[in-house]
Amino acid sequence: MILDRHARPLGTLRLSVTDRCNLRCRYCMPEDEYVWLPSESILSQGELVRLARIFVGLGAREVRVTGGEPLLRADLEAIVLGIAGVEGLADLALTTNGVLLADRAEALARAGLHRVTISLDTLRPERARALSRTTRLEDVLRGLRATQKAGLSGTKINAVVMRGVNEDEIGDLLELGRGHGAEVRFIEYMDVGGATRWSLADVVSREEILSAIANRFGTPARVDPHGSLAPAERFRLPDGTVFGVVASTTAPFCGSCDRSRVTADGVWLTCLYAEQGQSLRAPLREGASDETLAELIRLRWTARADRGAEERLRLPAREALVPISRLRADPHREMHTRGG
Ligand code: SAM
Repeated sequence: MILDRHARPLGTLRLSVTDRCNLRCRYCMPEDEYVWLPSESILSQGELVRLARIFVGLGAREVRVTGGEPLLRADLEAIVLGIAGVEGLADLALTTNGVLLADRAEALARAGLHRVTISLDTLRPERARALSRTTRLEDVLRGLRATQKAGLSGTKINAVVMRGVNEDEIGDLLELGRGHGAEVRFIEYMDVGGATRWSLADVVSREEILSAIANRFGTPARVDPHGSLAPAERFRLPDGTVFGVVASTTAPFCGSCDRSRVTADGVWLTCLYAEQGQSLRAPLREGASDETLAELIRLRWTARADRGAEERLRLPAREALVPISRLRADPHREMHTRGG
């Protein structure tokens, strides 16, 4: 196990397999036009699997495949198969908007995927159109049902809660999860790169989320009152339903953050808010050995001191993280490039 300067282990690797997305969620990709990574720079299946193996060799236990929208990769099943075969890997998850999931859930499960997290913020078709510019809500729900049919357990639903947009659906989303054996995680709206319309006034806080739930279902109890290393605080309703709240905006979890991210073109970021990362694609394509790559990662992780979300919290006036002009000049600052 390798530790950073705050004794945080290199734990979870989020591997982005594409920067492209088939949705345009208001909190992530609200613009009409984007600068995309050149396709020749996108890591191949072999390169992704090799990186996963090196990270796991250094102690990472969980790999989460994300994007952009990972199901836009035609070779996703092959990527999953390769990563699932990495010795020492304990958990292999996929984060997806679910639009294209229904027809592939079974093949992904067969390839060795352990679990899926589906992003779903509204159950109302007209809202889905306004919030994510999609008419395919029904397909997302089919995708959710397909995870059950494929025998995948541990399915989660991620819902970003925004004021004036979907905070009145917290209870309905919870019920949807309950009916499908999926744990819902309510996520505070974050000022990540890409959230160019972010404002503190639009953030529905952990306290507000909990009080909306308490009003409808009774007071929830903390599942792990002594704290845990997970970003989501988990709660149990009187009827036994478990849900999570990820309060990254108002109560960041930097102190226990073991996550790092590799963009679809191989830039490794040790904090979601980091301005810059380390290119792993360059050494990878210049013929570096696994040992050289591992040493590069080890050196950078042991020097890691990032606490990006806490720094954001301390700002006297908080506004969108990166202006559009800078996102256009460097798409690596976009959430959809970094992998959510
Ligand atoms: N396309 C996939 C999906 O929709 O799940 C994977 C990529 S998406 C960027 C991953 C996660 O990031 C989603 O669950 C999304 O809700 C979350 N996310 C994106 N922008 C966010 C923001 N401004 N605040 C909070 N969560 C955000």
